[in-house]
Amino acid sequence: MLQRAASYWETNRTVGSFDVIVVGGGMVGLWTAYHLRKQSPTLHIGIVEQFPSGQAGASTRNAGFACFGSPTELLDDMRHESREDCITRLKWRYSGLQAWRSQFSDSDLGWQAGKGYEIFSPSQSQEWEAVLQNLDSLNELVSAAEIPGTVYQQAAPPISSLLGCISIEHEAGLHAGMAHHALKSAVQSAGVEFLHGIEIPNQSQWRRDGASWQLPTQQGRLYAHHVVLATNAWTGALLNRTDVIPGRGQVLLTQPIPNLPYRGTYHADEGYLYFRNLGDRLLLGGGRNAFRQDEETLSGESTAHVQDYLEAYLRTVLLPGQAVEISERWAGTMAFAPNGSKMPLLESQNGLTVVARMGGMGVALSPEAGKKAAALVIAAR
Ligand SMILES: Cc1cc2nc3c(=O)[nH]c(=O)nc-3n(C[C@H](O)[C@H](O)[C@H](O)COP(=O)(O)OP(=O)(O)OC[C@H]3O[C@@H](n4cnc5c(N)ncnc54)[C@H](O)[C@@H]3O)c2cc1C
Repeated sequence: MLQRAASYWETNRTVGSFDVIVVGGGMVGLWTAYHLRKQSPTLHIGIVEQFPSGQAGASTRNAGFACFGSPTELLDDMRHESREDCITRLKWRYSGLQAWRSQFSDSDLGWQAGKGYEIFSPSQSQEWEAVLQNLDSLNELVSAAEIPGTVYQQAAPPISSLLGCISIEHEAGLHAGMAHHALKSAVQSAGVEFLHGIEIPNQSQWRRDGASWQLPTQQGRLYAHHVVLATNAWTGALLNRTDVIPGRGQVLLTQPIPNLPYRGTYHADEGYLYFRNLGDRLLLGGGRNAFRQDEETLSGESTAHVQDYLEAYLRTVLLPGQAVEISERWAGTMAFAPNGSKMPLLESQNGLTVVARMGGMGVALSPEAGKKAAALVIAAR
């Protein structure tokens, strides 16, 4: 896009006055606006997004897993967090998936029903044994989060060179772009105004005039009684905070593969690798853990070293000996906590609510995170 210096006329005008401005048009910002509108139909709400219409930082660039946790990921969570936190988050994720499906049709969401799986390669015999030993306690954990049935079960590996496989009940895939669009259309039809291509500057440049915020932008001034930052990975930079760290996620998509043995959504390596079929094509993402420092960036470009890492996994572990062509590569930006906690950041004071840090599971978390952020705004009014 062409970058030009803003003119005096552009910056010195008012482009919108709202009761609530939600900064960030990703899934969390949209669900926040959705719940605000539902709870308070007369509120004048604006959503401000720096990217053009149809794009978001992570919400339109993810892998589209409608998931709540793979076995190794949950075992790792249990090592770092209390059982209570794990159960609470599982409840949010599961109810979030139900919220998407109760609000929108499967065809609106591009819902790909099926199962989820976690696979184990021969180099992961220790992890495989640990999961087998803990299968009952993992099923008890998800049951405590009111997720029905025997969720995790041993299954046949999809290819014989893999060591093991666990199936995951209730997991599915969706089309992230369609889900984002369906939610955006619903919020727009409910009367929420969208302002695209506007970047809100660092909080040090905002002004508080009585009960109202004034936000200067290159397109003009915005006013609001309450500001919600649903800015996920950008939140640390906007507020000069060190407890929200960006994490780039990279993905590749293959050309159609004859007799593709994978049907459904698959996790590996504590969730750091994930793949799914899109028809006869394979979408593979992850690898951030192998290049952690480089990937702590707000850049949305894919890079050769992570893409090579993904391709090596694809060619040696997933489809050994098979010719595969890559057709697309992209990246998006997630947000994480520095201490490894996977609890979202949710806080509210002085007319500013922050809802961020969805980690790698914002599809499932966004409905509940948005609902909680909206409740904080309503409580503050
Ligand atoms: C490659 C990849 C794969 C993933 N796979 C999955 C998956 O399969 N399943 C899953 O559940 N999750 C997945 N995730 C994570 C998921 O996409 C995120 O957790 C979720 O989209 C976060 O939603 P959000 O609305 O908080 O953030 P975002 O979608 O990033 O939205 C925040 C928005 O705020 C805007 N913004 C920021 N600062 C400003 C500013 N100053 N002014 C104006 N606008 C601003 C940004 O442009 C951005 O659009 C994946 C993420 C990536 C990157």
